[in-house]
Amino acid sequence: MCGIYLDHQSCCPVDPRVEEFARRYSCIDFGNPSALHSRGLAAKTAVEEAREKVAELIGAENPESIIFTSGATQANNLAIRGAALRNAARGKKLLASQIEHISVLNPHKDLKKGGFELDTIPVDGMCVIDISSLERLAGKETVLASVMYANGEIGTIQPIKEVSEIVHREGTLLHVDATAAAGKIAVDVQKEGIDLLTLSSNDIYGPQGAGALYVRPGVRIQPAIFGGGQERGLSPGTENIYALAGFGEAARLARLEMAEESRRLQAMRDALMDEILKIDEAYLTGHPSQRLPHHASFRFSRIEGESILLTMDAMFNIQVSTGSACSSRTLEPSHVLLAIGLRHEEAHGSMIMTLGRQNSISQVPAIASATEKTVERLRALSPL
Ligand code: PMP
Repeated sequence: MCGIYLDHQSCCPVDPRVEEFARRYSCIDFGNPSALHSRGLAAKTAVEEAREKVAELIGAENPESIIFTSGATQANNLAIRGAALRNAARGKKLLASQIEHISVLNPHKDLKKGGFELDTIPVDGMCVIDISSLERLAGKETVLASVMYANGEIGTIQPIKEVSEIVHREGTLLHVDATAAAGKIAVDVQKEGIDLLTLSSNDIYGPQGAGALYVRPGVRIQPAIFGGGQERGLSPGTENIYALAGFGEAARLARLEMAEESRRLQAMRDALMDEILKIDEAYLTGHPSQRLPHHASFRFSRIEGESILLTMDAMFNIQVSTGSACSSRTLEPSHVLLAIGLRHEEAHGSMIMTLGRQNSISQVPAIASATEKTVERLRALSPL
């Protein structure tokens, strides 16, 4: 099926080089890494090599600071539940930005039932975190603050170094969900002062079913689920060797190719934004420049994002998104779009295009023309 795929934020294809690299771990070196025989040792070696490659992508102090998980959701739960419960003697206050992913917001909600207090940090109209609110809300009893690196729905990149300096003044731990940002822009946990960082394999063209939590050496967390001793007991269960080996290789490729690939995609993204913003009553959402290089997000008045998505797919074979894939079936307006101050009816008209390795700037005229025709058609049918 040809067509133009522009929904890399919700799912990336596995890079063929990653697939080629990882294949042997599902059929040759497939042993259980805890087993002492040669197949087990080969698998164990693959996991440790993957750990090194992931650590290098984010500038971690050492490979041991990487805890593999089944994905970003598990890593976020481990970071939040693990840090809050382990350090509760210090205080029971938590902070999170208003635009966090649902896999960050829901563990917080659950902790509130157990007696933790949660303050949320607002964002401005371009989705940048409000630093003065952070300064006001951060306090000595705050155990953990969660601020995502970049928002997957509207692409805005947060000033993480500044956030880190503020929360560390009070001794609060900083958790950063870098699922959308890693592999697209340089992320350096040491330079930016990050204590806990979430990553996902598929978001960097690795297999699904793998992710990681970086835990700064010295930071203490407890498991969020219980089992055997794998991953220092923090993420127990038999490792998914194929996915982890692929994740490592995807991280290595991302580290080597990120700068050039991001320049290429940013040129395409800028051209696309120029064209689409010529459409009547089309608006950019998020920051015009402080945003992920492959990310374009818009809203159109008087039409629904779901109708845009379905029409673009059915008539033009172009796949776009209208919000977080994790909540897109609820038909509720996105909490991120409401947080930047859009009214419900404005938030309903959103369309997100996230570009990837298979896209090229030569596709821009076709995408822009399909979008224009879709918007015209839907407005002609719209009762609004
Ligand atoms: N955090 C962010 C920022 C995301 O965009 C996503 C979804 N890709 C997740 C966490 C959860 O990822 P997963 O569904 O792969 O666990």
